[in-house]
Amino acid sequence: MKKQKTIVVGAGINGVVAAIELRKRGHEVVLIDPGPLPHPLAASTDISKAVRAAYGADEDYMALAEQSREIWRQWNVEFGVELYHEIGFLFMRQRPMQPGDFEYESFKLLEQRGHRIQRISSKQLREQYPAWNAERYPDGFLDLEAGYAESGRVVATLIQRAKSLGVELRENAKFWELDEAGGRVKGILLENGEKIAAATVVMAVGAWIPYALPFTRNFLRASGQPVFHLKPDKPELFTPEHFPIFGADISTTGYYGFPLNRGGAVKIANHGPGREMSPDSPERAVTKEDESKMRQFLSDSFPALANSPIVSTRICFYCDTHDGNFWIAPDPDRPGLVIAAGDCGHGFKFAPVLGEIVADAVEGKSNPLLEKFRWRPEVKAGETKEAARFQENR
Ligand SMILES: Cc1cc2nc3c(=O)[nH]c(=O)nc-3n(C[C@H](O)[C@H](O)[C@H](O)COP(=O)(O)OP(=O)(O)OC[C@H]3O[C@@H](n4cnc5c(N)ncnc54)[C@H](O)[C@@H]3O)c2cc1C
Repeated sequence: MKKQKTIVVGAGINGVVAAIELRKRGHEVVLIDPGPLPHPLAASTDISKAVRAAYGADEDYMALAEQSREIWRQWNVEFGVELYHEIGFLFMRQRPMQPGDFEYESFKLLEQRGHRIQRISSKQLREQYPAWNAERYPDGFLDLEAGYAESGRVVATLIQRAKSLGVELRENAKFWELDEAGGRVKGILLENGEKIAAATVVMAVGAWIPYALPFTRNFLRASGQPVFHLKPDKPELFTPEHFPIFGADISTTGYYGFPLNRGGAVKIANHGPGREMSPDSPERAVTKEDESKMRQFLSDSFPALANSPIVSTRICFYCDTHDGNFWIAPDPDRPGLVIAAGDCGHGFKFAPVLGEIVADAVEGKSNPLLEKFRWRPEVKAGETKEAARFQENR
């Protein structure tokens, strides 16, 4: 394809990896973000994001996660700093695993594809992972090849890489609107009135997208999800060996979390319907209700953490599609515009492979995943099917 100028709007993980890949393919790339970078309000700017291949019966995501994991391992060597930590992920259920549930289907497919996994009973849970209430969680499995990425540090590292490859980074630049003329997108207008022209505009602003491009509200939704950091009284129970990353019957409770971090805190978050709002909303704060639900979950599941003091909280934003899949596609009504969004709260792990998918969408190259992530207005905006199911299970 003819090399062209592309503006990538948003320097969270999706924008940065897209900019890097487009630059590697020889395009002139301008990456814009209001900054400072990594942006403190971006979903990507966090201490940890889980990297797992368990995706129920969805083999597309599992295969993509496998490719991604290989590159996470390579990046640790290439960048000379361990940003991906393969400490394992424990998926437990409050009932025995059975066909149709997330844990069973994940276990089956991971086993079929040769992953290192281990079934975990109440007895093993009690002996090896003493923070857990083993009576409540009779069945599950440990995925030994899963881990977490230090996501904020990953973005910072990749921004440096993008700059060194010749991506023009415009920090302090805020997208205002598309510059459209003659039936196509010709570039963008910044908040300060400056126009930047380009052959293609990639919108990678995460949960800001329904507000930056209001027509996307027909199929994309921003939802705020609560995150807590707690300081345990007995930190020895929450080290990675005794407390790997966990999903506590996630499709029923929504809760998952991470072991003790460098700051001595355990991170607990909820993967649920969340609250629909703009990432810039003044209501962007954890509520009393969020806290009391989280405390109830802890007293049921990890009693030693139930009364631990909260050291920090955060509302982090998903960009939801109703079917739970990314939305990476050229806009059929606005030639020159490509949307790269719809992470649905699970997209960070794909950072090593996502840039190629976005670049293929820009270049109009065939890629089987672009069919899954295609422009699909038949999928109406709303909470993901997964979140709706989670409500039913509650
Ligand atoms: C609580 C929570 C937990 C999660 N856990 C996991 C996990 O365990 N594993 C996993 O794989 N994924 C997880 N995710 C999902 C992951 O965080 C996202 O897939 C990923 O961070 C999305 O990246 P992004 O680049 O699309 O958006 P963001 O990181 O939000 O970046 C968007 C960027 O756009 C910029 N921007 C906004 N407005 C403008 C504008 N007008 N002009 C220019 N730039 C603009 C922002 O400043 C920001 O830098 C989680 C998400 C949340 C919220």
